[in-house]
Amino acid sequence: MNDVVHKASCLCGDIEIEAKGSPNYAEYCHCIMCQKSSGSSFMVWVIFDKENVRVTKGTITKYQSSKNLQRGFCKKCGSNVSIHTDKCFDIPIGALEKPNEIKITRHIWTHRALNHVSLDDDLPKYNDDIPD
Ligand SMILES: [Zn+2]
Ligand SMILES: [Zn+2]
Repeated sequence: MNDVVHKASCLCGDIEIEAKGSPNYAEYCHCIMCQKSSGSSFMVWVIFDKENVRVTKGTITKYQSSKNLQRGFCKKCGSNVSIHTDKCFDIPIGALEKPNEIKITRHIWTHRALNHVSLDDDLPKYNDDIPD
């Protein structure tokens, strides 16, 4: 834990989020739910312990997309802003104010990766999800 604060917001600016300290990890997720909810080939999530994250402006609308996981978005502009689990608060990298400060550490759900996505970097790759 350190004093870094990562700020994030949605497209319209109604929602602002602050996360304290370095993220636990960051990952490319190629799962079908990330593809559907983003409308894109994959999402990149930056994972923090939920006690280190607070919503400083606005209200996140949540969708229960699986038993233990809710996806958060802005009801005005539709931006994805979060994943909520028992332990974690995940922020999509594109919502961050300084996304280039994040080091992405792995790929998950690679068996779902679309054909055009190149997986030739040196990061660890997991066929499906892996436990925290
Ligand atoms: Zn918004
Ligand atoms: Zn996913």
